Order: sequence, then structure tokens, then C-alpha cells
Amino acid sequence: MLADRYTRNALQRLYLYRARGVAQASPDTAQAAVARQRVLDDLGSYLRQMESQAVANGVSVHWADDFQEADRFVVNLLRASGSTAALRNHAPLLDEIAVDRAAAANQIDMQPLSPGDLYVQLVGSRPSHPVFPAAHLRREDVSAAAHAQWRVPVTYDTELLARSAFLRLRPALLDAKAAVIGLNFAVAATGSLVCLDNDGHNAGLVSLADHVICLLGIDRVVANLADLHLLISAYAQSAWGRPLPSYVTQVTGSDAGGHKQQVDLILVDNGRSRLLGGPFAPALRCIDCGACHNICPVFRQVGGAGYGAAARTGPIGAVTNPVVVRARAANLQPFLSSGCNACAPVCPVGIDLPGLLHDQRVRQAPRTALKEKGAFWVWQQLLSHPQLFHQALRLARRIRMR
Ligand code: SF4
Repeated sequence: MLADRYTRNALQRLYLYRARGVAQASPDTAQAAVARQRVLDDLGSYLRQMESQAVANGVSVHWADDFQEADRFVVNLLRASGSTAALRNHAPLLDEIAVDRAAAANQIDMQPLSPGDLYVQLVGSRPSHPVFPAAHLRREDVSAAAHAQWRVPVTYDTELLARSAFLRLRPALLDAKAAVIGLNFAVAATGSLVCLDNDGHNAGLVSLADHVICLLGIDRVVANLADLHLLISAYAQSAWGRPLPSYVTQVTGSDAGGHKQQVDLILVDNGRSRLLGGPFAPALRCIDCGACHNICPVFRQVGGAGYGAAARTGPIGAVTNPVVVRARAANLQPFLSSGCNACAPVCPVGIDLPGLLHDQRVRQAPRTALKEKGAFWVWQQLLSHPQLFHQALRLARRIRMR
């Protein structure tokens, strides 16, 4: 379960360098929590309002119940517009629906537009953190991948490696015909589709592409522009330790400065409505800032791989995965906690993560206890029957040698 030593050190550094800046930031947690909760208390109405505003802006809206349906929409929409390649931004939702895998299975070349995601893809890994997808990668592995793919001389200079990625990304961006964009928010009052970054890639992509496919988790609607401003600031402070992002990109229609575009919006449920109205509904306030990951001593030891196949990691993943993913392995994730409560004060939208983790543990304990009881019964039988014990040892050795 423990990540290797290098990954643990890398996540520790992320904590020291990023969390320090984040700790100095002070988002208005109470107001941000109210803004998120306002929408969640009447999610259906806000979603309908956002949908009708988006349609009025010239956007085609589609609803996906699960990740397979979301992937099907992406693939079919790209095919319908004749695209065999697309660029995508960095967004946890795109990892959640495994859009790269779906595109590859349908012979569509889906290239990430963030160097972190690009290297994660080249190395054949998975993102482990919602904001810094490549935080767990070794520079040696990144360098080997860059050398194998682009013949970049072997180097452990991370600046150079990032520049090599940017060099490849820029021509791809200038040629982009289709864009797949995971959004941070959408505004019910105006139908604006919003994404945030610090390098301007989102703005470039949505301005240049002829076909823009946006995806939004159904929980990420905000009521109005005032709430949007509040949440943008909360996100920037908690994710990057800065007052605002360098770029806020808004898609408000199908006309980007005289450039006529096709804009599609896919609203993704994928288990979110199972959380709504239940004891873990406050987790839907999450804006994926990653602050609880940075501060969590368990996440820093196990990394993203500790959360199995689930796309959402860290304390928030440990709360939501048992309800959303519903895989047996996810039921153990609430136990990935030291009970230190460090995640409570850093969450910019006031989610009581320690309380929800505790409730999930109580819920999952009987199932886990049953398994533990079974394992102890087998162990007891082996210890009381030496012959059986030695047979089991021989069998285990043979299995190990295969
Ligand atoms: S639970 Fe809170 S701290 Fe953790 S990622 Fe979500 S918004 Fe950020």
C-alpha cells in the first residue's frame, strides 16, 4: 500500500512548498461554503436554469448518467464533426471518466495540453493529485519517456523537461480543431462555462478550436457571477496559494470573437446524485483544490495509487469513493486516515472531512470486521494444525515462485 520512497519524498516536498503558500492564504471559507450549499440545496432548479441559459447562448447540452455515457458522447460528438484528434485540458473530471482511454479505444488521438498530464500519459502512469497530476513522477522516468518519444537528450533538469513538453504542445495548440475541456464551474444565471489555469492554455484552446466539448460534474453549478468570483478566489488560494488564477476562461456562446464554433456541454452525474440527500452530501461542495491532499499525512505516504482505480484520491476520495465508485476496494479507503483532523481547517468550502471520514469508517466497519474475523479464523485453524500449516506454507511458496 505504501508508495515508494521517491514518491513519498515528492509528496512531502509538495506539502512543504505548496501547502505553506496555501496555509498563508485565507479564503472566505464561510461564504464559499454558503455559495456551494445554496446550489446543492436546490440543484435541480439551478441545473435547469443553467441549461436553458446555455442553450440560449447557442450551446448544445447533453446529460450523461455515468462515465461510459460521458465517454460515448465525447467520441460520438468528435466523430460527428469529423475529428480524429483532439486536445484536452487538465481537469480531474476528464481523468474520472478516463477520456484518454475511451478516445484511444476509438482511434481518436487525445492529447493533453498540460505538461504534467502529457508526461503522465507518456510514462503510462495515472494522475495522483487533482491539481498537480505529475507530482508522483520521478524525473528519471520523465526524462526517459521524453528521450524515447522525442529524442530529447537525457536530462534531470525539470525546467528543461517542462520546456520540451511546451515546445511540442504549442504547434498542437495552434492547429487544434477540436477541444475537450473539463470545466471548473458553470453559472446558472448566465450559462457561462468557466475554467481556470495559470498558463492561458484554456483560453487559447477554446478560442482556436472549431469544436469545443465542455464537461461539467452536475455538482459544479454556481448560482451567479458574485458566487463565481468568490469560488474562483477560494480555488486559487487553496490550489495555488495565490489570490486569483492568471487566467479565467469563460465560454458564453458559440461565437468566439467572430469565429463560429460548435460548443457542446456534457453534464456528468457518474454517482453524484447518489451522494445528494444522503449523509455524505456535504462532500459535493468540493471544488477539487487538492488542499486536503497536501496536508494529509496518509496521502503523503500512500500517494494516489493507495486509492486503487478510483480517480478521486486523498481525504475527499476516501469519503466519496465508497458511495460513488461502489467497488469493494473503495470501502477500505475511509481507513486511510490517521485521525489527525488536519484536513478540516484547510478546506476552502468548509467540508467537515474528519467527521465524514469517521461516519464512513463506522459504516464500513461491520463489513471489514467480518473479513477480519474470517482471516483470523483461518489463521487460528492453521496454528492449531501444524500439518495444515506446513502444507499452506509449501503452497504459498509454490505460488510465489510461479
Ligand atoms: S475536500 Fe475541500 S480541501 Fe479537499 S479537494 Fe475538495 S475543496 Fe479542496
